[in-house]
Order: sequence, then C-alpha cells, then structure tokens
Amino acid sequence: MPSIAPVSRRRFLSDVSRFSAFSAFAGAIPFAASAGVIADDPRVSQTPLVDAGFASVRKIGEGLYATISDPSKGFTTLCNGGFLIGKDAGLLLEGFGTPAGASFQMDAFHKVTQVAPAGALLTHYHFDHAFGNSVYGANGIQLWAHSAVAGRMMDSYVSMQGADRATFLAPLEKRVTDAKTDAAREHARNYVTTIGNVFDMANKTSLAFPNRPLNPAKLPLQIDLGHFPIIIEHHPGHSGTDLIVRVPEQKVVYTGDLLFSSAYPATFDTQCTISGWRNTLKTFSSWEKDTLFVPGHGPICGQQGVQSLRDIFDDFSEQAEKMHKAGVPLADAVDQYVIPEKFKTFPVFAWGLCIAPSIAKLYAEMGAK
Ligand SMILES: [Zn+2]
Repeated sequence: MPSIAPVSRRRFLSDVSRFSAFSAFAGAIPFAASAGVIADDPRVSQTPLVDAGFASVRKIGEGLYATISDPSKGFTTLCNGGFLIGKDAGLLLEGFGTPAGASFQMDAFHKVTQVAPAGALLTHYHFDHAFGNSVYGANGIQLWAHSAVAGRMMDSYVSMQGADRATFLAPLEKRVTDAKTDAAREHARNYVTTIGNVFDMANKTSLAFPNRPLNPAKLPLQIDLGHFPIIIEHHPGHSGTDLIVRVPEQKVVYTGDLLFSSAYPATFDTQCTISGWRNTLKTFSSWEKDTLFVPGHGPICGQQGVQSLRDIFDDFSEQAEKMHKAGVPLADAVDQYVIPEKFKTFPVFAWGLCIAPSIAKLYAEMGAK
C-alpha cells in the first residue's frame, strides 16, 4: 500500500459513475470561486477571465490569477491553482488531476500575457495536483517542486501502474467485510471506491516528474519575475512536500493543500502531521488581516478561512481526546467522529482520507505523550 491509510467511510450515492467517490468531495453545493467578505474584495475580479464549469480563472491582484475548481461540474482540474505574471516571466502553479486541466490553465495564461513561464510549480505530489504534469515537459516548461516529490510519486503511484487491481484493493475490500457497524461499512466501501478511482487514474496517466527539485533546506527562495518579487516557502502539515507561494507586496498567498477552504482537510499522508499542520495554520493566522489566500481546495478566502480549518482541527482534537479518555479503541474511534452542525456543509473528499486518519494521528500523538 502506498501512503494512504487503510481506513474509511462515507455513504455513496451511486457506484455507477467511475468518479462517484469524487462526487462526495463535490458536496451538495457547488463551490463558489470566492466566499463571504472576499466576494467584495476589490482585488478579486467579479468576472472570470475564463469559466469552463469544472474550473474558472480570475484576476486576484496585479499580475495574479487564481484557478478555482468546482468538482461538482467535473474532474478535469480537481484542485485549485493559479499563475503569476511579472515583467520578464510568469510562474504557473499545479499540474492538476489531468493533462487537460493543466492545459486549461496554460491556455488562460497565454490569453493574458506574452511573457514565457519560468516554470510550473507543484505545491506537493498528490495525484489531484500532479497527474497533469506531462503537459509542462511537452511545452518546454520546467517543473518545480519539493525535492522529495519525485520519490513520493514513485512510491505512491508508480506502484499502482500495471498492478493487479483486485489484488491491490483486496485488503481494503476485507475491511468492508470485517466492518462491525453500518457506518464503518459505509466508510470502508467509500474508501475502496476512492482508491479504486485513484488506481484507475494512475494507470491512465503518463507520470511526469519535476526537473527542478527545490531542497527545503535551501528555502525560502526569493524570485523576481521582473519587478515582481515572490517567495517560495516550505511548511509542514499536509504531505511533507508542501510548498507555498507568497506575494508579500500584495498580501496574497497560494497555499496548496495546507489550506482547505470550507472543506474537511485530507490528512491521510504518511508525512502528514496534525501538530505540524496546526502550527502552520497558526503561522498563516499571524499574517496581515487582509491577506488573500488561494487554498488547494475550496473558495478563495481570507483569514476567516484559516480560522475555520483551525476550528476543525480543534474539533478533531476534542472528539479524539474524549474517545481516548473513554477508552474507545482506535479501530472504533475512527468511525465514530461526529460532524458538528457548523461544518455540515463542508464537503468530505472521503472519510478514509480526511477523518479516520485525523483521529488515528491524534490517538498516536496522545499515545506518545
Ligand atoms: Zn493533497
């Protein structure tokens, strides 16, 4: 098994669609590109530059653009991204879930500028950010990422290629059979479907690896795109390979998956640490009040978006502690978390990728104390 925790839940409306597992992430309500007070932020253009349904691109500052996915309308991009344009060069962000997704954003980039992209930066190695990477090499664009990204992609996705699907999913199927409660069975079934979808995507994808590895020990990295200074930083939390792009002059931050806006966070990665992630969010909170965040998933947000995610981690922590104190074994606790009323509208990509591993990691952190 690659870096995906073998636990799960979440009822599936239908297994008819190949991508039914991703429908859970789409949630009941379509994602707006921006939410709340951000809708009135003068930096954020009301009219998108392009809107393909599955994603739209809009201006969010001088030379700054955000690509915001709406998975309720298709899975071409899956994650958010964006691009930055200076006087001399541009920088594209993310490889998206498919090559068509990366092409969609690259077309938008060429629509607004004649400058060449200095590179395309992956915020981390996960499939929904990296399976469209091949577009960049094919267009002579250097692919930048944390130096551990190539290795993590190899371990997680190359291992799926050419493998026998049934054998690969068998240990996960067993969890469905062994489930003791309806909730646990639903979570397990949902997890099999989700991982099955990732398996199918991996087998359809020509993986492309970064050719400009960024050593985290040498970050932050300051770059000038031509009267346009930006900073690339590494922060712990989501995947161990996470990079963010900051534009301090305009108080704009592209966070990758270190920020899920109005959505439950994906915490399945073996390198994901809840305490590290909470510290990173604390850092985000310490930045200016009117900072604009482009999250890895969900609408563009301000500081209140960071606060909501911190509240979710607080809630994970409270519920995990309560169960731990009451002696609930981990195998049961992972299925017993209750989504509070105030987060009911927040999509959960998959229980086994977002909630079960959060509880498991918090149990481990408590056990280590
Ligand atoms: Zn991710």
